[in-house]
Amino acid sequence: MTSYFEEHNCEPLNDNPNTPDNLLEFARFLILTGNWRDEEFSGLFNERPPPPTSSDFIEKLETMEVSKEETGSSCPICLKGYEAGETISSLPCKHSFHANCLLPWLQKTSSCPLCRAELPTSDPDWEEMKRQKKREKDRETDIEALHDSMFG
Ligand SMILES: [Zn+2]
Ligand SMILES: [Zn+2]
Repeated sequence: MTSYFEEHNCEPLNDNPNTPDNLLEFARFLILTGNWRDEEFSGLFNERPPPPTSSDFIEKLETMEVSKEETGSSCPICLKGYEAGETISSLPCKHSFHANCLLPWLQKTSSCPLCRAELPTSDPDWEEMKRQKKREKDRETDIEALHDSMFG
């Protein structure tokens, strides 16, 4: 049986590890099929992964001990129900997790595991990039508001 790629006469992907051809091929496929979404995929190419959450911030996270009344809900990371006596931490977005489950996550990245709300880091470059992004977004919102006031 011939493979899909043989039937369609595709060039095999270059497997030189120094050129991320797989990603580029994937990107090209998405563009060709109309599925490219800048905001979702540009991150694959241009942005570095988020740095860990600031340790100051982690230390000051709101934590509480699970009481008997709260044992109905469960931790979105390990999916286990909260048990009385366990410690849970809440993020500013109001999502809460076992402290023991949340900590390793925040030490790797700086967003809420559930809603991806961004959290403070201690990386000045990253913080500057976030500020720039916010400024761009504010500008877009301004332009939209202006557009709406003119044509709305
Ligand atoms: Zn958990
Ligand atoms: Zn959240």
